Amino acid sequence: MNTDRSLELYEESKKITPCGVSSPVRVFKPFPLFISSGKGSRITDADGNQYIDFCMAYGPLITGHANPIVMKAAKEQIERGTVYGAPSDRELELLKRINARVPCAENVRLTNSGTEATMHAVRLARGFTNKRGIVKMNRGFHGAHDSMLAISGSAEHCIPSSAGVPEDTVRNTYIVEYNNAPELDSLLQKNNDIAAVIMEPVMGNIGVVPPKKGYLDEIRKITLEHDVLLIFDEVITGFRVSGRCAQGLFGITPDLCTLGKIIGGGFPVGAIAGKEEIMQHLAPAGPVYEAGTFSGNPVTAAAGSAVLDILSEEIYSELKRRTDTTTSAINDLLTDRNVKGCIQSSTSMFQIFFGTYSVTNGTDIDGIDLKMFEKMFNFMLKSGIYLPPSPLEVNFLSTAHDDSDVNRFIDAFDLFLRSIRS
Ligand code: PMP
Repeated sequence: MNTDRSLELYEESKKITPCGVSSPVRVFKPFPLFISSGKGSRITDADGNQYIDFCMAYGPLITGHANPIVMKAAKEQIERGTVYGAPSDRELELLKRINARVPCAENVRLTNSGTEATMHAVRLARGFTNKRGIVKMNRGFHGAHDSMLAISGSAEHCIPSSAGVPEDTVRNTYIVEYNNAPELDSLLQKNNDIAAVIMEPVMGNIGVVPPKKGYLDEIRKITLEHDVLLIFDEVITGFRVSGRCAQGLFGITPDLCTLGKIIGGGFPVGAIAGKEEIMQHLAPAGPVYEAGTFSGNPVTAAAGSAVLDILSEEIYSELKRRTDTTTSAINDLLTDRNVKGCIQSSTSMFQIFFGTYSVTNGTDIDGIDLKMFEKMFNFMLKSGIYLPPSPLEVNFLSTAHDDSDVNRFIDAFDLFLRSIRS
């Protein structure tokens, strides 16, 4: 496989932007591939090599690359102007779809990214409750903004997980383990200055980690008992695990949720949605400031609405069927070849872990075999299969992936396991 042009572009980019990428996870060794086009389930790199894409831009492309219906909607809107700085019918169409389908979404406010949505949701929770504390899950990711860039420090306090974040900024951020409701309960019993718990209902930033049975019900019960808001960060899971998001799938309605990725139809997007009483605290209706030049962008909204119109119950069943085929085949191969590993999934997202038989929380991640993952990633890439380069990210299926794409994934994985045994 010739990747000389990607290397050339990488060398040139590195001189202008740190590590040649616009977002850190995109770098992998020896160098990231530069992509020149995407269509359906395939991407083509700058040297003309084609890959079946399971990274799918980290989640937005549930109807595949350059879906003709979505592209038509976007193009029609582009002809009418790309941004107005005023409300538009397109924006209202997307708002109405979110309002109709997301259980907690009595009100919705559109933003430009998931990071913006979670940043503003945290501020809204603090502004609404007049409390300072925010609880997140160990290794949970909620966008690259200061108060969420925190890890456990001493027993009492978080410390920044990034240089440049003042210690004071994360002083009111608390961390508990996912899938452990009693730990949250005891924190909330000790501390009455907690505004909200923010969490992914299915964790998607430590690979895929689904909730244990009854866990989300307990979290809802505990947050209600302690009068603490529950924010589901559904930037990944929103319209990914069901047509009513994870909150619909599990039947747990949070007070607020954040959305992103899929609702933008492949264009930059985010959203905060939730109970009207809380949402009406956002400016200019209320005192919590939130704003954005490109928020509610009409091109994004046209593409997003087109995607949401494609997604039906049958599509989610089909995506789940393909994911389940993949998980059972990968599990069988791991068992047959006697390799310690597992695959975890939720509807149309999955991830493979080596060195463990299950990951249930952020601490379990410390035990996974990163080297083996890297070997698999490189093997798959050479076999024409493009995966996210980290086990903490997620593989995504789209409506453009067919059975033969999934079978190629499984066959390549089989060859990989054979290669490490020989
Ligand atoms: N929340 C979650 C759960 C995410 O996975 C991400 C990004 N993958 C974000 C927030 C941030 O979204 P964005 O990259 O659009 O800013």
